[in-house]
Amino acid sequence: MTTDLTRLTIHELTGAYRRREATPTRATEEYLARIERLDEQLGAYLTVTNDRALGAAAAADGRYRDGAPLGPLDGVPLAYKDVLCTQGVATTCGSKILEPFVPPYDATVVARLGVAGAVMLGKANMDEFAMGSSTEHSAFKLTRNPWDLTRVPGGSSGGSAAAVAGDLAVASLGTDTGGSVRQPAAFCGVVGVKPTYGRVSRYGLVAFASSLDQVGCLTRDVRDAALLLHAIAGVDPHDATSVDEAVPDYAALLAGGVKGLKLGVPREYFGEGLDPEVEAAVRAAIARLRDLGATVQEISLPTTDYGLAVYYIVAPVEASSNLARYDGVKYGLRAAGGKDLIDMESRTRAAGFGAEVKRRIMLGTYALSAGYYDAYYGRAQKVRTLVRRDFDAAFAHVDLLVAPTTPSVAFKHGDKADPLAMYLNDVFTVPGSLAGLPALSLRCGFNAAGLPIGLQLIGRPFDEARLLRCAYAYEQATDWRSRRPSLETTR
Ligand code: GLN
Repeated sequence: MTTDLTRLTIHELTGAYRRREATPTRATEEYLARIERLDEQLGAYLTVTNDRALGAAAAADGRYRDGAPLGPLDGVPLAYKDVLCTQGVATTCGSKILEPFVPPYDATVVARLGVAGAVMLGKANMDEFAMGSSTEHSAFKLTRNPWDLTRVPGGSSGGSAAAVAGDLAVASLGTDTGGSVRQPAAFCGVVGVKPTYGRVSRYGLVAFASSLDQVGCLTRDVRDAALLLHAIAGVDPHDATSVDEAVPDYAALLAGGVKGLKLGVPREYFGEGLDPEVEAAVRAAIARLRDLGATVQEISLPTTDYGLAVYYIVAPVEASSNLARYDGVKYGLRAAGGKDLIDMESRTRAAGFGAEVKRRIMLGTYALSAGYYDAYYGRAQKVRTLVRRDFDAAFAHVDLLVAPTTPSVAFKHGDKADPLAMYLNDVFTVPGSLAGLPALSLRCGFNAAGLPIGLQLIGRPFDEARLLRCAYAYEQATDWRSRRPSLETTR
């Protein structure tokens, strides 16, 4: 009989269900008890949906009892980033302006996981409107990194990553606009997959930058990532940017190995500013992949240097437009005491948005204003095309790119109070986002202080299967997975 269900992966847990060694209700109860005991220090959750979770678990119990589980996610307890709409459950986006918002519908990804029998444990903390790299911009609470409570979990999906690393959920959903699944995955030592733009529906994902936003998975291992991605991927009539491409059975395709796989190492990702311990771990991982049969060649992505500049125009521009809807009229917060409509609106937005969100709205509005549009937004879009062409050129020669996910390991709370220092964290994740490419981060070692280091793989559009296969081969050949953070000394 398994004793500690909160340590298992998705596939281990459902294996235990099928062998009748555990039930979804028991697993859910163990998770809820652990959240109750530990989330005060971790701060991974904004809302815990106890009753709903136990109800879904009881339904799954019945299906396993009858020998008819719905599939590989039936009865699996998950956390969802609070940017995903959940019917009847508060969806705040980490913002005061949406604090009173209770969506009347589920995001497509949430609905699909519901149909697959997954159990929602609750909603995970995040940087306000997904703007940030540390989850310090949440209007509600700080999230701590399970490996070192004085450090950030990364962001903006920091709650989702900390929940998985701290064993407060088997797996979770996050969103990635410029790195927000991969970067917290790297900081918390979990697997993070950001799919190709269009692979997964954005319906019910509260918009930040619509041409970049994509839902992704945070999991304990690569097989779990394959299972979870498979469940959420695919065209959705509610999202015109979702693409009608067949969704492969990712889990069935994991085992092919890397023999003959052509890996490209982008020279520009190993320059100044890269922490030497991160570089050493990533280079060792690349050597390991070569030993496993991949061929490795250096390539160049000359526009890498422009990635951040382009992203920090395009994303704020789209954000300023998307966030115009929070006007105190339709939903969310409404500030009292307004003299007229305009006054009410500006009071609402002044009270409801935090500093980082206001900064982005101002930046975006400025870049879109008459006289500046061509110089900033138009120019940024042109350079975005060049960034994409760099990747196209690289993928003419190689199958996947291998690089660090982040320039450093998790930093301490308060260390990046300067917004520009915070933005620099996204230097290796943003170019792939601008090009809409699928990318993944997985653990490839630890620094001397015991903090996890992330290896990033970037693939061709809709080539998630190869990305996962390469990650799986590396994971199977190494034993980084065996180390775990110690949130409690006795469990
Ligand atoms: N850190 C980046 C930003 O602040 C990326 C955020 C994201 O991917 N949601 O915009």
